[in-house]
Amino acid sequence: MYTLEKVSYSFEKPVLDNVSLEIPDSKLIGILGPNGSGKTTLLRLLSGFYRAEQGSVLLNGQNVAETRPRLRARQIAVVTQISVLNPQFTVREMLALGRAPYRRWFWQRQTAAEQALLEKITVDLKLSEFLPRRLKTLSGGELQRTVIARALIQDTPILLLDEPVNHLDIHQQIEILRYLQNLAATGRTVIAILHDLRLARKFCDSLLAVENGKVIPADTTEILARVFDLPEDSEFLQ
Ligand code: ADP
Repeated sequence: MYTLEKVSYSFEKPVLDNVSLEIPDSKLIGILGPNGSGKTTLLRLLSGFYRAEQGSVLLNGQNVAETRPRLRARQIAVVTQISVLNPQFTVREMLALGRAPYRRWFWQRQTAAEQALLEKITVDLKLSEFLPRRLKTLSGGELQRTVIARALIQDTPILLLDEPVNHLDIHQQIEILRYLQNLAATGRTVIAILHDLRLARKFCDSLLAVENGKVIPADTTEILARVFDLPEDSEFLQ
């Protein structure tokens, strides 16, 4: 379980201000909020990429920013918006990187269990036929599925995703969200920044919104209307 204790973080001005929050395990949690409200900052604090200026971000009682990176990478996988990729890598090479936190040497052979995991995830994400392809030849959707697959191959209890379904067509958005929902139902904690309110409400177990430096539960139409500055009877909130 994640526990945020009086967490503050600022750039030129405060982004998160004295946020206390618990995020339960085994749920798909959507993070919502207008552009610039602090969603990515929150995700980076959860991943340990940023350290809280004040307060602490704890995962099962451990301060994530103080956990050794290699150990952290066995607990938390992150799909960033702009994942730094080598366009010359093949999909297979990219996916193999997901096992790096478990390797003692870079050239260590894959175990049978790792091979089986890779197979399952490539089938689930419909990537099998793309394994030999270079990343630079993939469409946006194929690349996005590859980046998500790499995080899944990391095989962590926590998965953090920054806008995982942007640039995907509606069919693929639904497939990915259904997949994430299923991961949560089978024990993973999945926290994703999402923009489509309707999809977020349909698939997430609960929603959080970042608003004026605070992180609040956003499970009612009233709150969503206020956060997004929409009329409460807006068709986009239905
Ligand atoms: P969101 O993900 O909700 O769009 P961010 O967490 O990216 O919001 O940003 C929150 C605020 O912090 C914004 O006002 C943004 O301009 C500012 N910010 C984010 N990253 C930086 C940075 N590296 N340097 C300065 N300001 C930043």
